[in-house]
Amino acid sequence: MTTHAFDIVVLGGGIGGYSAAIRAAQLGKNVAIVERDKLGGTCLHRGCIPSKALLRSAEVYAAMKESERFGIEADGVRVDFGKVISRKNGIVEQLHNGLQYLMKKNKITVYSGIGRIIGPSIFSPRSGSVSVEQEDGEILTLVPEKLIIATGSRPRSLPGLDTDGVRVLNSDDALRLEKLPASAVIIGGGVIGVEWASMLSDFGVQVTVVEYAPRLLPGEDEEVSRELERLLKKRGVTVRTGAKVLADTLQKSDSGVQLAVEHKEARHMLEAEIALVCVGRQANVEGIGLENTDVKVEGGYIRVNDVMQTAELHIYAVGDCVGGLQLAHAAGHEGIAAAEHICGHTVHHYASHQIARCVYSRPETASVGLTERQAIERGHQIKTSKVHFKALGKALVYGESDGFVKVIADSATNDILGVHMIGPHVTDLISEAALAQLLEATPWEVGQTIHPHPTLSEILGDAMLAVDGKAIVV
Ligand SMILES: Cc1cc2nc3c(=O)[nH]c(=O)nc-3n(C[C@H](O)[C@H](O)[C@H](O)COP(=O)(O)OP(=O)(O)OC[C@H]3O[C@@H](n4cnc5c(N)ncnc54)[C@H](O)[C@@H]3O)c2cc1C
Repeated sequence: MTTHAFDIVVLGGGIGGYSAAIRAAQLGKNVAIVERDKLGGTCLHRGCIPSKALLRSAEVYAAMKESERFGIEADGVRVDFGKVISRKNGIVEQLHNGLQYLMKKNKITVYSGIGRIIGPSIFSPRSGSVSVEQEDGEILTLVPEKLIIATGSRPRSLPGLDTDGVRVLNSDDALRLEKLPASAVIIGGGVIGVEWASMLSDFGVQVTVVEYAPRLLPGEDEEVSRELERLLKKRGVTVRTGAKVLADTLQKSDSGVQLAVEHKEARHMLEAEIALVCVGRQANVEGIGLENTDVKVEGGYIRVNDVMQTAELHIYAVGDCVGGLQLAHAAGHEGIAAAEHICGHTVHHYASHQIARCVYSRPETASVGLTERQAIERGHQIKTSKVHFKALGKALVYGESDGFVKVIADSATNDILGVHMIGPHVTDLISEAALAQLLEATPWEVGQTIHPHPTLSEILGDAMLAVDGKAIVV
């Protein structure tokens, strides 16, 4: 058996893992990554990037169908789904190549194979070495000073609704669809379910979303959820919130699925060509050798402190496998924090409420900080504002004036507690609100920033000023 010594071994080459590896290499460490599939992980191959590529094609199609609004006549507009898929694959491949280049540039050794953490052994007196089973069956042992676990997550399944990749799909399967279905039942109205609902609906698929909670995007501000539901319904999406899927009623046939849901004390039968199960993500913590360590797993996630150390201080864990907000930018940030802590740097502590949350539906939603309900529950005396996109010249020019920006501030301290947006390009606009929170700016300071005109960004300035009744447009 061959052994290799490293300063740091990273188990998992998703955004959490590769960000940690690159930062550690930049800081002079000898680093290896073990990846069983493809560098880039969920975000690049099964998540953020491919889904956003499809969403963009769907959005272009929807815009072309409505082009008459802009004085443009376009006849015979149709979807060539094969080309949509090729475009998506091209983007993923380009970024995958870029990532492989970054590994070489930073002299990071990449091992392709399944990694498993081993306990104290002849190679090391403490746990944290990694055995790698390569494709050809050869086993290597990597012996690091520090280990970073970044094994990510996979789609959660719903008991009784096993996915078969044909009639009952999860988000991984959906990205492999070769043709669009005529209709889809989406089970779960969280971020992934809402994005798929919006995309499929824009492609002309008949969509029903079933959500157990009383509203879509249950973690977001209630006003945003309500507006999103209204706008999806306006586009023809059927939304059933507060509805329970009766998994034992599932029937599959050659043409589709049938499934009952309990909604408002009545039972409804739903039929569609496919059912798409989007009920969250489960951390990859099994089968990676944690039982050979004293690393603690709680509620299905690896427990870490605020610098990403597990109960064994030389073993770190980052990204989806530690829970919290399972977002790519959170995973990347945690990876960098772990690498910097290992290298003796002071790590910037962030609170999860400082991380922006985005949904790339049409319209988009984005938020940072507390919802109105959370702010009140935490005892804040609040002042709020809401400015609608229809008051904004640039939104009217774009032809996308649905939605609003809502600001929640503390009336006593003037702190910005939360910013919630629904409307055009808000997933880009939210960064300014996140920066304002990080810099502990007051609403007045953000409002005083001179936003160029006409831009969509003006709305945040106005919404901040509106908190104190000082906006010009409201
Ligand atoms: C459909 C979808 C859309 C999404 N859209 C967004 C979005 O728009 N914005 C956003 O911020 N987030 C989005 N996410 C979430 C985002 O993709 C994840 O939060 C992010 O990828 C987590 O990164 P990670 O590095 O922790 O884990 P992963 O990306 O899951 O990477 C973990 C890696 O570890 C490897 N691995 C696991 N076990 C082993 C082992 N034993 N040996 C070797 N390798 C192993 C896996 O193969 C994988 O490559 C989306 C997710 C999905 C599913």
